[in-house]
Amino acid sequence: MSRAIIVSAFIIFIICISAGLAAAQQRATFTVGTATAKRNQKVTGTIEVPRGVDAATSIPVAIVHGAKPGPVLALVSGAHGTEYTSIIALENLIGLLNPAEISGTVIIVPLVNIPSFERKVPHVNPVDGISMNRMYPGKMEGTQTDRASYLITKQVVEQSDHLIDLHGGDLDESLRPYSYWTKTGNENQDRVSKEMVLAFGLDHIIVSTDRPKDPSASRYLENTATTRGKPSITVEAGYAGTVEPGDLAALVDGCLSVMRYLKMLPGPATAIEHPVWIEKILTISSDQTGIFYPLVKRGTYVEQGMKVGYVTDYVGKTIFEARAPGAGVILYICAVPSMSKGATIANVGVVKRDGDPR
Ligand SMILES: [Zn+2]
Repeated sequence: MSRAIIVSAFIIFIICISAGLAAAQQRATFTVGTATAKRNQKVTGTIEVPRGVDAATSIPVAIVHGAKPGPVLALVSGAHGTEYTSIIALENLIGLLNPAEISGTVIIVPLVNIPSFERKVPHVNPVDGISMNRMYPGKMEGTQTDRASYLITKQVVEQSDHLIDLHGGDLDESLRPYSYWTKTGNENQDRVSKEMVLAFGLDHIIVSTDRPKDPSASRYLENTATTRGKPSITVEAGYAGTVEPGDLAALVDGCLSVMRYLKMLPGPATAIEHPVWIEKILTISSDQTGIFYPLVKRGTYVEQGMKVGYVTDYVGKTIFEARAPGAGVILYICAVPSMSKGATIANVGVVKRDGDPR
C-alpha cells in the first residue's frame, strides 16, 4: 500500500473509533428507578427501596436527559433530611434545567432521607437510627439505610461519570459554606475533581486525603463515586433549619457552573481564583452535658486557645469552657443550647499556608 492509502486507512479507523465512543455516550433512553427519559426529556419517578427487616421507602428522582450527548452528572441531597438549603437547591434545579439546552444527562436525587425530612429528625434516618451518608456502598440484606445506599450505588453512582453530594449545616449546626476536594493520587481524576470544586465556587475548600480507598467500604456517597474512578465533590451550605437566599444561590449556581465546566451547558465556565484551602479539621467536643453558649460565629477566625463557647449546668454554673485547639476558621458551631457530653461544639478548619494543593 502506498503511504497515502495507509494514512487514509488510519484516519478512517480513528473516525470509526470516535463515532463508536460518541454512540456509547448517546443513550436513547436513560432509566433510574421508575423513571425513564428519552433524549430531550425531563422525567420524574422514584427509586423503590423494598421492605426488608424494616419498612420500605420511596426515594424521589428526576432525570434530565439532554438533547445532545455528553457526560452523566448525578446531583444528590437530603441524606440528612433537615439540611434544607441543599434539598431546596436541587428542587429548584429540577425546575430550572431544560433538556433542550443540555449535553449529557443529569440525575437529580433531591431527598434521600424522607423519614428524616418528614419527622424533622437531624443527622440520621429515624427508621434505623443510622446516618444515610455512612453505609455506602450498601447492601440489600441490611436496614433501610443499607438498602437505600445499595440502590443509590447501583442506579445513580454506577450510571454517572461525576457526582456532587450536597449537604449543609443540620438543624443544630451553624455552618459557613465550604466544599470538599478528595485527593486520590490519580493525577487525571484529581485534576478534574479539583476543577469541578473550583468551578462550584465556594471560597473555602477542605482537602480530604483520609477517605477509605476501598470501593467495597466507601462509607460516604461522594467517596463511592470517587473510589469508582468518577471525579466527584461534596459541597455544604445552609444552616440550622434556614433556607437563606445567598446559601441557596451558592448551591444552585455552583451546580450550573460545574455543568458549564463539564460542557453540559453552553457558556464559559467560571472558577474561584483564590479559595482558602483547609488542610485539617480540629473538632472541639463537650466534656459535659448542659447548656451551650457560643462566643463566636460560623466563619470566625480563631487563634489557638481562644474561648469559642462554654457550657453551664441547668442552674447557671459554668462547667466547661470550649477552647480552640489550634488556629483556624470556625466551619460550624453548635447552633442550639442543648449540649451533651461528647457532642461536637465546633469544627475548626486549619488553613493551608503553603498555597495551592497539588
Ligand atoms: Zn449532611
